[in-house]
Amino acid sequence: MYIDGKWVESSSGATTRLPNPATEEIVASAPDASRDDLRRAIGAARRAFDHGPWRKTTPDDRSKILLRLADGIERRKEEFRDLLVRAHAAEHLTHPIQLDMPVELLRTYAELVVRFPFDEPLPTPGGPAEIRSLAVHQPVGVCGLIPTWNFPLYTTVQKLGPALATGCSVVVKPSPWGPLVDLLVAELIEECDVPAGVYNVVTGESPELGRELAESPEIDKISFTGSAETGKAVMRAAAKTLKRVHLELGGKSASIILDDYDLDAAAPGAASPTFFHAGQGCAITTRVLVQRRRHDALVEKMVGFVRGTVVVGDPADPSVLLGPLIREERRRAVERYIELGRKEGAELVTGGGRPAGLDAGWFLEPTIFANVTNEMRIAREEIFGPVVSVIPFDDEDDAVRIANDSSYGLYGGIMTGDTARGLELARRIRTGGVSINNAANLPYAPFGGFKESGIGREGGIFGLREFTEVQALAWPG
Ligand code: NAD
Repeated sequence: MYIDGKWVESSSGATTRLPNPATEEIVASAPDASRDDLRRAIGAARRAFDHGPWRKTTPDDRSKILLRLADGIERRKEEFRDLLVRAHAAEHLTHPIQLDMPVELLRTYAELVVRFPFDEPLPTPGGPAEIRSLAVHQPVGVCGLIPTWNFPLYTTVQKLGPALATGCSVVVKPSPWGPLVDLLVAELIEECDVPAGVYNVVTGESPELGRELAESPEIDKISFTGSAETGKAVMRAAAKTLKRVHLELGGKSASIILDDYDLDAAAPGAASPTFFHAGQGCAITTRVLVQRRRHDALVEKMVGFVRGTVVVGDPADPSVLLGPLIREERRRAVERYIELGRKEGAELVTGGGRPAGLDAGWFLEPTIFANVTNEMRIAREEIFGPVVSVIPFDDEDDAVRIANDSSYGLYGGIMTGDTARGLELARRIRTGGVSINNAANLPYAPFGGFKESGIGREGGIFGLREFTEVQALAWPG
């Protein structure tokens, strides 16, 4: 682990063995930190923020650090790719988000921070005796960052980039299923002239580490990516000291296919949750909404696409579109949802089982449920596996009602032949983002959720603001 500018083992000597989800072979092991290790890291980050040279750096200095970090990731991209494939079963379709996007995000934060209005003069009434005032955007302080395993480099960079840019110090506590990427980032940070204690990474298995970070009075802010359930626990723990919380949580996003959109064009995107990173993505559109009279035709095309195109196997093979689930316990959880869907009366039109011939690894078949109603649990809860539900709607209002009838509000999609119609409809959807015809809008765009999908936004200027605290200064003019 990397604590206070030094490489250390866990004080207990314990380690965690990390399997390749496609073969179940052990890829590597990482230190399993004790709470004392975490406390040392928190102490180091606190000292670095309160007393170290970091506070004296300028936005320009920090922008250069982010650029060096981006260059470092690019230089060692093949090592990151290897880790992502072998320890996270990331198939090649995901690599633009897993690898290229984090580099682009760091460069975007580097560009934005030199223009960020850290000192914002406020309008004052004229006259010599008037008060002058300024809003100063201070770094929020010592941040606990908890990224996750499905897009490990991306979720780390969305926190670390703006935290360093604004002058915060950090303790990173990666997911126990994905610590290696953050340790590799630590090697790069070491080359970037970041003062000791500003960046610390503590790896470990116990949920107590996350809880301790969220409770610690020495931490000013927690930025967490994970499930809504754990997000609520983080918020409860953080409430003890009223620290700032930024939560990037789950989703049950809907894709609405309007009647003016060709079904052949719609089918691959509609079916994509059954293969893209094995459905292990927060913003994946796992509810496909289509007009009732076109429902059967769309389902037939989705099934045809999946059966004809989706190769299941080890993501190390570039022809593979669907890799395994991250762990056996996750596969079992997804299987329980598939069983539930059957019992609830949804029509299982393809998949539902374990693929033949893949005995090692935590694989599942790409699975499509048709004629799903939005009241079924498979339409309401995040499954996080290669499963999609097709839900018929009557008209546009009905589609909006179904899309919004969710405790989540992360993302959504609209497929239409008429962009203006799509944009108008998008404003009626209560989610943090809506994409028309699969257009992607990062890295300047805000990313985050309405409702139980989270609090706060990552990305662009919105991400920078999350790591600042506003201070008002006033003086006689
Ligand atoms: P998870 O909720 O299981 O989070 C696990 C993390 O929280 C681990 O690091 C664990 O040690 C820690 N933890 C456990 N209990 C804690 C506590 N009481 N206090 C603090 N930390 C605690 O989620 P996961 O499996 O890591 O990630 C999958 C989830 O992440 C999905 O719901 C997915 O939608 C979501 N996700 C969201 C985004 C986004 O940007 N919105 C991105 C990727 C993934």
